[in-house]
Amino acid sequence: MAHLLFTIHHSPLPIHYHYIIAGAGCAGSSLLMRMMQEDFFRDKKILVLDHSTKNSNDRTWCFWEKEAGLFESIVYHRWPILQFYSDSFSRELSIEPYQYKMIRGIDLYDHVRRMSAQHPNIEWRNETVKKVETGTSHACVFTDQHAYQAAYVFNSIPFRDVQTPPSRENSKAYYLLQHFKGWLIETPGDHFDAGKATFMDFRVSQEKGVAFFYVLPVSPRKALVEYTLFTEQLLPEEMYDVALREYISSHLQLSDYSVQHTEFGVIPMTNLRFPLQEGRVVFTGIAGGQAKGSSGYAFRFIQKRTAAIVDSLVHKNSVDLRETTADKKFRLYDSVLLHVLHHRKMAGSEVFSRIFQHNPPQRVLRFLDNETTLWEDLQIMRSVPTGIFLPAAIRELGS
Ligand SMILES: Cc1cc2nc3c(=O)[nH]c(=O)nc-3n(C[C@H](O)[C@H](O)[C@H](O)COP(=O)(O)OP(=O)(O)OC[C@H]3O[C@@H](n4cnc5c(N)ncnc54)[C@H](O)[C@@H]3O)c2cc1C
Repeated sequence: MAHLLFTIHHSPLPIHYHYIIAGAGCAGSSLLMRMMQEDFFRDKKILVLDHSTKNSNDRTWCFWEKEAGLFESIVYHRWPILQFYSDSFSRELSIEPYQYKMIRGIDLYDHVRRMSAQHPNIEWRNETVKKVETGTSHACVFTDQHAYQAAYVFNSIPFRDVQTPPSRENSKAYYLLQHFKGWLIETPGDHFDAGKATFMDFRVSQEKGVAFFYVLPVSPRKALVEYTLFTEQLLPEEMYDVALREYISSHLQLSDYSVQHTEFGVIPMTNLRFPLQEGRVVFTGIAGGQAKGSSGYAFRFIQKRTAAIVDSLVHKNSVDLRETTADKKFRLYDSVLLHVLHHRKMAGSEVFSRIFQHNPPQRVLRFLDNETTLWEDLQIMRSVPTGIFLPAAIRELGS
């Protein structure tokens, strides 16, 4: 990534912008949305690049939040109560002041596009990015059509398949896949309580690794039912459908329903270190390691990083992202849990059951958000067996 090489054939001279956002999914759109809220960017030329027109509902984001968030106006549904189920522990959890919120991908993409139409300084191009490079004072993006240059490039394009672990420069790194298939189902009569969401239901086979369902009712007749696993390999395609059918029949006790929409996803769950920034290229989203290693949740982490980037540009006119002590602490915790899951020292269902059983849900949510104090961390740690977690922590500290 050292030098700028303008080798693209179509356009020998790069086109200049102040900032380039490469990838307009969750991270790119969130960053753009935040930039549009600040006067600082009004006179800055911003290019947004994505190879997709983003006109399908390719995913649904759920996350918890206390306050009104950046995308409050497009929150599709929200729940103040979560349900947790496992063979050893089940409970209804009132999470106030948090709410568990759902945003549909298509609503977010449309919303950001609509807002950006009022900003003549923002340009969208539907191109495939081939390469992103940094120089000393600029960064460059090469697409299938042009070369572009900007003071900063904010990249959320992974440039590799998430299902393939990168070469193991650190043999102690874990690389699990969180994979899930969801069905939005509709019933002919009222069946669901749209005020409660099933956050995790572990009462399913744990033979292949950590496996659970979640059920997100958006009305008395509609719910997103999703089968989620943390394993090293994906399942054969038909197995997700078999499990969904079985869960809907035995746990939701439904035989009469139609599938309105399906979604499938794979997210890395790893303690591998992703680059935050290489010179003038700043990484965001999954490509910037923002899926939490032990949970796969990324939406809130993406919001925090994009907010930090915009704040830094507005106040310092530069970006210099560095890992904080708190980041390191939570990366260690993620590594410990990945260690326990990878080596199957304790079932994931049991780990989550104990944590939810012995802590207020608000503390658990803060912990999963990397926002707990050391005292709160110790309370969480007291919930799981020291004989398993302490040796794992010592191993991970030494690696
Ligand atoms: C189905 C699904 C459901 C999820 N649900 C949740 C959830 O409920 N809560 C949560 O916290 N996290 C969730 N995640 C994890 C995470 O929040 C999402 O993956 C999120 O979209 C990541 O944002 P991103 O910007 O990194 O990637 P993306 O949103 O995937 O954006 C990357 C963009 O880059 C574009 N792109 C890729 N390659 C190129 C190229 N070569 N040239 C140009 N453009 C390119 C893509 O078209 C895309 O628009 C989910 C993930 C998936 C897949």
